Amino acid sequence: MSNIIQLLPDHVANQIAAGEVVQRPASVVKELMENAVDANATLVSLIIKEGGKTLIQVVDNGSGMTDTDARLSFERHATSKIKAAEDLFHLHTKGFRGEALASIAAVSHVDMKTKTEVEEVGTHLMVEGSHITQQEPCVTPIGTSISVKNLFFNIPARRNFLKSASVEHKHVIDEFQRVALVHPSVAFKFIHNDSELFNLPVANFRHRIVGVMGSKMNEKLVPVKEETDLIQLYGFVGKPEFAKKSRGEQFFFVNDRFIKHPYLHHAVSSAFEGLLKDKAYPTYFLYLQVNPESIDINIHPTKTEVKFDNEHAIYSILRSSVKHSLGQFNVSPVLDFNK
Ligand code: ADP
Ligand code: MG
Repeated sequence: MSNIIQLLPDHVANQIAAGEVVQRPASVVKELMENAVDANATLVSLIIKEGGKTLIQVVDNGSGMTDTDARLSFERHATSKIKAAEDLFHLHTKGFRGEALASIAAVSHVDMKTKTEVEEVGTHLMVEGSHITQQEPCVTPIGTSISVKNLFFNIPARRNFLKSASVEHKHVIDEFQRVALVHPSVAFKFIHNDSELFNLPVANFRHRIVGVMGSKMNEKLVPVKEETDLIQLYGFVGKPEFAKKSRGEQFFFVNDRFIKHPYLHHAVSSAFEGLLKDKAYPTYFLYLQVNPESIDINIHPTKTEVKFDNEHAIYSILRSSVKHSLGQFNVSPVLDFNK
């Protein structure tokens, strides 16, 4: 029998990888916003049309790219963020897999303008289904602007699988909020169908949370703070009487990433035991910092899962700090002189 194994062409490999990274417009929003943050932008604007189904654009004032880097950024496994496997244990960037832009470009039409501080002109690139169709010098401010159009134009099954513009829009808002909540030192704007939904100036955590969630949130927040050898915990939980009927206001961040972690979520909810009405979900915004060597976030391409070395210890600390904060609030409200 003759040999039958072949290496897949890049555009096919990219399209397969895209299946994991890009599920819907909101996944593109997450990746582009995280790239802007990684590029040290101080202002990031998100512009979408029809829930991102027709347009997703992210404009940042970050580092920008040279024309060669701009071309390379669409290659798979092309990244400026890590160089060696050991860097995975000291991550200080959101990205490191070098596959987001390659994946996005494999399933959409991408238009990018970018310029670094040192160059006089920028570069304008167009990519369609993994192929760079055009690159030319252009006048553009320092930073990067990427537009993604016609998502899944070449995968009809995926395109049809997308929900209505309003459902996709909700998912985009979720991603926007997650990124904005964890980066109060970056200003964010969000424009949907030409109307401004968010305009968030640089702020501290409390003001950012209120900016993202609405002004009513301000009176609901109880601060949480804890420092041990293992973790630094900062953030807020909602007063029990404001608990929601849905999980919409639960945010847990680990080393500046939004993370889904049922076990640690349980630690927080169990701290509310006896304080909540039936079927109510506590509100929380908790920011946990741990030694990057003690976690693995490379579990899934979307990086919303994390494995901790010392999960049980973190569970106990989390539960007791939240309990402590709630206790202070409950038993000694008179001590709050700010009221
Ligand atoms: P990763 O973020 O994992 O490195 P991406 O595919 O998202 O992979 O991006 C590839 C590379 O392109 C990044 O490592 C970075 O060097 C560059 N890049 C992407 N977006 C931007 C941006 N907005 N500003 C500057 N550089 C960017
Ligand atoms: Mg990235």
